[in-house]
Amino acid sequence: MWASNFRVGQGHDTHRLEAGLPLMLGGVKIPHTHGAVGHSDADVLLHCLTDALFGALAAGDIGEWFPDTDPANKKADSRRFLQAAVEEVRSKGWAIVNVDCTVHLEQPKLAKHKPAIRQSLATLLEIELDRVGLKAKTGEGLGPVGEGRAIVADAVVLLERNPI
Ligand code: MG
Repeated sequence: MWASNFRVGQGHDTHRLEAGLPLMLGGVKIPHTHGAVGHSDADVLLHCLTDALFGALAAGDIGEWFPDTDPANKKADSRRFLQAAVEEVRSKGWAIVNVDCTVHLEQPKLAKHKPAIRQSLATLLEIELDRVGLKAKTGEGLGPVGEGRAIVADAVVLLERNPI
């Protein structure tokens, strides 16, 4: 059977927003009146990237690896989830070529936070900054995102068989 040297993966995640909670995004705390509700630290960007990596490996999803029924994952730092996925990529003989992400959020505007978020992702993924794409979209006032009730993120990743 033909063995491709590439794998693509995609991830998607949604969290509810509530007043008074911290808003974590890509491992960076974003100052805001509202934050995401979740069992862990509710970092929607890290969750969808983790899923994208597991997806590229056909290795299940973040809920299988880190069930929300496990007390060990309560209030967990989601960087731990992404780092586990990165380790799984490496241990299976793959390397991350690049990632591309979109965050859907009405407020706050993310433009000034993008550099810190991209740097955090590059560090966690152990890849160069120019391999980390990050876009921010509002919901134009429509739907749960537009009404400020939800934060959503999407990610795609490309893996290449590690030449080593
Ligand atoms: Mg999540």
